[in-house]
Amino acid sequence: MADKPTEPAPENPPAAAAAAAPAGGEEGGEAGPSKKALKKAEAKAKKEAEKAKRAAEHAANQAAAKAAAGNTEDLAKDNYGPETKTTKVDAERVHLKDVGEQHLGKTIKLRGWIQNSRMQGAKMCFVEIREERNWAIQGVLAASPEGKPVSKQMVKWAGGLNLEGFVLLEGRVEKPLDPVKSVRVSGYELHITKCYLISPGPEVLGMTFAVANKAVTNFDDEDAAPAATGVEEVKDGVANLSVEGVAGASMITHLNNPAMHKRAPVQQAIADIRMVTRKLFAEYLEARGFNQFEPPCLIGAASEGGSNVFGMTYFDKQAYLAQSPQFYKQYEIAGGRKRVFSIGPVFRAENSNTPRHMTEFTGLDLEMEIEESYTEVIDMLEGVLLFILRNLREKCADQIAIVRSVYPSEDFAFPEPGKEVRLTFAEGQALLRAEGPEEFRNVTDHEDMSTAQEKALGALVRKKYGTDFYVLDKFPQEARPFYALEDPENPEITRSFDFMMRNQEILSGGQRIHDPKVLEARIRRKGIDPNSPGIKEYVDVFRSCGVPPHGGGGIGLDRVVAWFLNLPSVHLASFYPRTPKRLAP
Ligand code: ATP
Repeated sequence: MADKPTEPAPENPPAAAAAAAPAGGEEGGEAGPSKKALKKAEAKAKKEAEKAKRAAEHAANQAAAKAAAGNTEDLAKDNYGPETKTTKVDAERVHLKDVGEQHLGKTIKLRGWIQNSRMQGAKMCFVEIREERNWAIQGVLAASPEGKPVSKQMVKWAGGLNLEGFVLLEGRVEKPLDPVKSVRVSGYELHITKCYLISPGPEVLGMTFAVANKAVTNFDDEDAAPAATGVEEVKDGVANLSVEGVAGASMITHLNNPAMHKRAPVQQAIADIRMVTRKLFAEYLEARGFNQFEPPCLIGAASEGGSNVFGMTYFDKQAYLAQSPQFYKQYEIAGGRKRVFSIGPVFRAENSNTPRHMTEFTGLDLEMEIEESYTEVIDMLEGVLLFILRNLREKCADQIAIVRSVYPSEDFAFPEPGKEVRLTFAEGQALLRAEGPEEFRNVTDHEDMSTAQEKALGALVRKKYGTDFYVLDKFPQEARPFYALEDPENPEITRSFDFMMRNQEILSGGQRIHDPKVLEARIRRKGIDPNSPGIKEYVDVFRSCGVPPHGGGGIGLDRVVAWFLNLPSVHLASFYPRTPKRLAP
């Protein structure tokens, strides 16, 4: 205990306190400082000591902060930035649709578009990365205390990237606390460790991704709809990752922003369905002995007649764009092929600004020999269409679900196998007269059916037979072209038919005239000169050799896709719709 400094006794104050004590008076008389003065001096000294301590501490902190600020080295600098020649990510390449439990905790490599991004404070950023269709994942960039692999600077850089830029990423697959509802890969999250910009997005998008994936608001070619471009959403920054409440844009805005239009999962899903439809058409027919062939698009005469043909200068002559492969299918049959089909463009110079028409569409066409009855052709066409539609349900279930999330629709109602509905034109008109809307009470069996009639009849068929698919057979001869075979029992009707899907025509077909004499007579009956350019060559084919009875049909691919999905317009089913007012992109 002897070496422990003792507390100074009050009667023996420290020098400082003694020095601080005022002299004289009550407190500083000859006898030394009073007790009160000593206490005061002691308190003052303590206060001074604390003040000095605090100042020292402050100075130390300042020095440390200064030292830290002076250290500007970004320890994550190699993990982000624009892609360069030396950029390399060695992790396993995984596509978002394949991400699963096997990747948990593993580091993967990913390439995709920045669909959305949101900074959370200065040290964290959430980004949505999309690969194709709606395959997107939430990525997280969080600055680590050590400054690597992710630094604050890296987070800031990534958070500032423009939307729809294309990036290369490395990240660890983790489980989020809660499923991330705004993305399809909702059960996983990518903890990004490297981020390189391969191709930057623009400062302002002409149409945001969210808008591109909304239902098109109108299809009027004249409407510029400037307000609905979605630019606002971009300017405002994306406050949250959800796209709820974003308004759609007009078709004009979509087509003026073709890349963003095509990035929309709904458009990619429609495109997939379209291509599967083509393949299924070929698959079914090839399995039944059909041979594919290629008709020309350029023809020398507007052979099918009518004014709906695009003409063009062809060297020193006039040429036309084929408005159907009809004659060429028949030439193939005359040329000894028993069954043929073609898939190709069809051009119509019709100023029809409707959701059902385009000036260029894709025809799925077939032609076949008839052995016993023209109903063989109906059987084949019914078979191929139902095969396509039933298979689409299975093969494109994912795409159909994506389309429905934007364009809701009821399931397509199929006829029960063996109970396909075939009405004659006369039966259809009778049904309309009996049970259709008032305006169709007086329809006759000899006039062609208007679109409104078609729709009304389709609704009645759906109600009565529970199907969205049916055949209307035996059209009046006035409503059919010159090559349609008149029914031998009643020349006022033809052996020709239309197929309907969701109340609208998607196919026209029938038995063709194969006897040149009958053909010539019917051409005359239609008021056409059988020796006119194009027609003469056509009739001559039937004169040149014996052609077997045959028939076929032409299906509009765009309509099959559009009406199967219940889209509001065929324009959505086309890759690059051509309408009377639009030739671009
Ligand atoms: P619509 O009366 O509906 O204009 P259409 O009777 O002229 O059609 P067809 O010449 O029989 O049609 O053509 C066969 C199929 O081609 C039609 O059932 C339809 O699916 C498709 N089609 C015809 N015209 C067009 C068009 N302008 N745009 C898109 N598809 C079309």
